[in-house]
Amino acid sequence: MQYVSTRAAASAASSSSQQFSDILLGGLAVDGGLFLPSAYPQVTGAELDAWRQLSYADLAFEILRKFATDIPEADLRALTAKTYTKEVYKNARKGEKASQITPLRVLEEGDNGTKLVLQALSNGPTLAFKDMAMQLLGNLFEYTLAKQDAQLNIFGATSGDTGSAAEYAMRGKKGIRVFMLSPHKKMSAFQTAQMFSLQDPNIFNIAIEGVFDDAQDMVKAVSNDLPFKAKQKIGTVNSINWARVVAQVVYYFRGYLSATTSNDQKVSFTVPSGNFGNICAGHIARMMGLPIDKLVAATNENDVLDEFFRTGVYRVRKSAETYHTSSPSMDISKASNFERFIYDLVGRDGDRTRALFQKVESHGGFDLSGKPGSDGDEFKLVAKYGFKSGKSTHEDRLNTIRDVADDYGIVIDTHTADGIKVARENLEPGVTMIVLETALAAKFNETILDALGEDAERPEGFENIEDLPQKFVVMPPDVEKMKAYIAANTGL
Ligand SMILES: *Cc1c(COP(=O)(O)O)cnc(C)c1O
Repeated sequence: MQYVSTRAAASAASSSSQQFSDILLGGLAVDGGLFLPSAYPQVTGAELDAWRQLSYADLAFEILRKFATDIPEADLRALTAKTYTKEVYKNARKGEKASQITPLRVLEEGDNGTKLVLQALSNGPTLAFKDMAMQLLGNLFEYTLAKQDAQLNIFGATSGDTGSAAEYAMRGKKGIRVFMLSPHKKMSAFQTAQMFSLQDPNIFNIAIEGVFDDAQDMVKAVSNDLPFKAKQKIGTVNSINWARVVAQVVYYFRGYLSATTSNDQKVSFTVPSGNFGNICAGHIARMMGLPIDKLVAATNENDVLDEFFRTGVYRVRKSAETYHTSSPSMDISKASNFERFIYDLVGRDGDRTRALFQKVESHGGFDLSGKPGSDGDEFKLVAKYGFKSGKSTHEDRLNTIRDVADDYGIVIDTHTADGIKVARENLEPGVTMIVLETALAAKFNETILDALGEDAERPEGFENIEDLPQKFVVMPPDVEKMKAYIAANTGL
């Protein structure tokens, strides 16, 4: 399996192609594009039938081997077996089997043949779906680094979910350190405790005196110093990482196969979306031949994606125009994985994709509506890829959390509430609608308390995490100090 950049010039596409292991530890391609397979591997009906019975780990192996063709199969099988266990994904609700890793729960079957199902993706160590991919990444990194006798220092900024998922995936891993910046005193008490209570010597929590953008700017400044980056062996695990996207493809297959008994049955997915990483994996599963009917992107008040899927206009927001909402992990002004879909939408034309995303930098967006003066008319092809969208507000979120608690007796988190709200608007007779549960309610308790007047239940082991001793340093947003801190701790 060869990988190409979404911005590769037509003439350069074949010469610049790379294998899975080559792009595993990298971020963007050198031309600024994102990596995608040169062609999507296809699944047959016979394969789907055979896969219906597999464990999650075995299914993950079957799918990953189509993408990671340069990793020996026995090694890959060992990696998926080690990653997807009921001990790692142990935070299942009562009535759900942890051994299923992403158990399904039927919420409602309508008289008219509609069906609403929740797929739990947040039973891992940090109670958000990011663990699904990040846990695999931790094991893949450790495996690859050991083979090359190399080390990797992961450097990033987080406002919550990504940073903690990365730390829990990399803690105690040989050859890896994590330097994670977060805005000082800006994360929820639960999120802070989750990260800062890690005592592992390879985890470095750095609280930056400022807001998230200050922390993010420091990551950019340090990463732009290429000699420093090379010397300190700095890498990232942000949402454009290809291995993360592939790992997410697996649960679309699991969801479809668990919800159906034959491949003629129709299933749609609604995905609470921010950086378009999660739903991009659904797009890839569909392109591989998984019979997904619709892929519905649910956004919060930050509705950049909903606007595109309604109008064909992609208009990124400035940081000042980005709302701070009660589903904060979707407060995204510019969806970093969107370029992968656009590349397919414009017929895998790298020159065209490059021009469109250069226009995002220079003019804040592009317009594919086909109207006079627009940049193209490919919006008319969007339906062919199954995409739909919808939007949810704070008021909707509170109402949905209440409704779901009343009607189905479970408490859902704020992001999943956005998903359920939009899914309900897109139910169709004869089509099972699966909503991806992207976090557990305990992580966003402040809003649960507002909606229900009582605290969200905490999974076992999380009862008193705020009382645990915390390990972190506080630093001003000073790039030179940051570099000195990293160098002192890597010894490189
Ligand atoms: C990251 C995250 C999302 C958004 O996922 P994307 O892949 O960025 O679209 C939604 N909900 C939760 C809880 C998250 O942590």
